[in-house]
Amino acid sequence: MALTKDITCHQAVALVSDYLEGALSGRDRRRLERHLEACQACSAYLEQMRITIAISGSVGPEDLPAEALSRLLDVFEKYQQDKSNE
Ligand SMILES: [Zn+2]
Repeated sequence: MALTKDITCHQAVALVSDYLEGALSGRDRRRLERHLEACQACSAYLEQMRITIAISGSVGPEDLPAEALSRLLDVFEKYQQDKSNE
C-alpha cells in the first residue's frame, strides 16, 4: 500500500515542525513516527526541535538558519552512509 511507504529524512525534517504543532494528519503522523523509530538522526532532530520550541515558544522551517539545516542534512547523509557500511 503506497500510503505506508517510508518517508525520507528530507521529508521527515519537513514534517517535524507540523508534527510538533499537531498540524499533521493521522496518516502523516504515523509515517513520521515510523521513520523516527528507525532513524536516530531524525529522532535527535525532533528532540532538538522540542528544546528549541520550549525555549523560543514557537518554531518553523523559516526559523531555522539555512546553514544549520544544510549541516543537519550532511549529518543525515553521513549517518546513512555509515549505516550502509556496517
Ligand atoms: Zn531520518
